[in-house]
Amino acid sequence: MSDPHSGTTARRTGTGRAVVLGGGMAGMLAASVLADRVDEVVVVDRDRMPAGARSRKGLPQARHAHLLMAGGARAVEALLPGTTDRWVAAGARRIAVPTDLVVLGPHGWFPRRPEMQFMVACTRDLLDLVVREQVLARPGITLREGTEAVALTGGAGRVTGVRVRDTGADRAGTIEADLVVDACGRGSRAARRLAELGLPDVREETVDAGLVYATRIFRAPAGSENFPLVTVQSDARVPVPGRGATLVPIENGRWLVTASGTRGGEPSREAEDFEPFLRSLRHPLVADLIAGAEPLTEVHLTRSTVNRRRYFERLPVWPEGFVVLGDALAQFNPVYGQGMSVAAQSAAALRDVLGEREPDAPGLARSVQRSAARVAGRAWDLATGEDINYPGAVGARPPVAARLLRGYFMRLMRTSTGNPTVLRHLMDVMTLSAPMTDLVRPEVVLGVLRGPGRAAQAGPTITPAELALCGPGPS
Ligand SMILES: Cc1cc2nc3c(=O)[nH]c(=O)nc-3n(C[C@H](O)[C@H](O)[C@H](O)COP(=O)(O)OP(=O)(O)OC[C@H]3O[C@@H](n4cnc5c(N)ncnc54)[C@H](O)[C@@H]3O)c2cc1C
Repeated sequence: MSDPHSGTTARRTGTGRAVVLGGGMAGMLAASVLADRVDEVVVVDRDRMPAGARSRKGLPQARHAHLLMAGGARAVEALLPGTTDRWVAAGARRIAVPTDLVVLGPHGWFPRRPEMQFMVACTRDLLDLVVREQVLARPGITLREGTEAVALTGGAGRVTGVRVRDTGADRAGTIEADLVVDACGRGSRAARRLAELGLPDVREETVDAGLVYATRIFRAPAGSENFPLVTVQSDARVPVPGRGATLVPIENGRWLVTASGTRGGEPSREAEDFEPFLRSLRHPLVADLIAGAEPLTEVHLTRSTVNRRRYFERLPVWPEGFVVLGDALAQFNPVYGQGMSVAAQSAAALRDVLGEREPDAPGLARSVQRSAARVAGRAWDLATGEDINYPGAVGARPPVAARLLRGYFMRLMRTSTGNPTVLRHLMDVMTLSAPMTDLVRPEVVLGVLRGPGRAAQAGPTITPAELALCGPGPS
């Protein structure tokens, strides 16, 4: 292959090339799938990738809590076997759900029952590093760092490649490809790029609860290697802004604490406001846990939390050779921890639809787009159905049927604190391990009708030994 900056890169006769725009979670996983089907995969990213688990400009959200749910971890594992062990070896925690969770839900503290599901807890930078190293070690995959995608080439019937430019120098070129995957994340210009090729506008929907995230990292106390993940959730039934916090044990003996608040109840970026905000939640547990802990960073704030979905799959025509995955397709309020799992499951959908077909097979791109939209749609319903209820939330109201189902869902949440069968199905759905329809299976409906039986535990489910690790914080 010729130099990326020297002009047009010619396609080798008789070989296929795929180009993936964006080297984040969706892009790297898509590249690993495509490497099985083409001779050459080129991943283009405008960032230069750090050598270790360090922050980079193109992934600002990595400063905040990034939990990978079981459904996403399994999808990654199916594409890159051994990844979960590698994460753990690098310092991530495999959190057994709900055993290692101390969670105050809308209806009380969830019991810490034996493992039903799991999640992976570490920094987002570590999650990406482990995936990236494995993907780039595969033959046939190359990364072009410091290279920005600026336009698609081809026409409304087929995308034939991408125009790129070097971010450090004023050089541009074209990479031709049988398949171009846009995995540029939240800032993706896919809809605009398609319009430039003559395609109609893509319908976009947003639901915005005005959520703000504020995150600070602390040194974890000695001996806290098995400390649970602690969450105080808001209660969307009460017509006040939703405010909550999560303490995530991360690699290198640290706790990452994210505080969040919807419109009217936002946290601030001032360090002196951080603990008082945590103390003002429905329970002060997280404030108590960090009261004596040494802060290792400033407070980082983001407002980049809107749910946004682009309905590419509904365009009347779709060009061959082009697919949009990950956040470029749909973004979710991060409080539900779904985005990376959806990215991974979409990459798995790409693999499944691709099957034995060539990446430029007629109709393939459209089938992949529809399949990825189905994956995103499941997470979308979960996140927006909840978010629209917060005061000041902006977006279309859900249909009447969905509003009626909400009453059922509320009762289900309450039942789950006392009924292990209902809890298991809820955990399956929340970790994106099962579809929402699992919540209307006969055994779940029966349990919900009967109700929880006994009330949830009155106080936090943290053990005295766990609490003792944190010293005598105020309460
Ligand atoms: C505050 C916050 C917290 C979150 N917490 C969670 C969580 O707990 N669990 C979870 O599952 N998800 C979470 N998410 C969502 C998660 O971050 C995304 O779903 C995930 O990053 C999507 O991966 P992606 O590959 O589509 O995009 P990204 O990871 O954003 O990657 C996009 C890549 O494209 C590159 N790029 C962009 N434009 C161009 C261009 N023009 N040319 C070349 N390269 C380009 C960028 O440099 C970047 O590398 C959170 C999101 C936010 C904002």
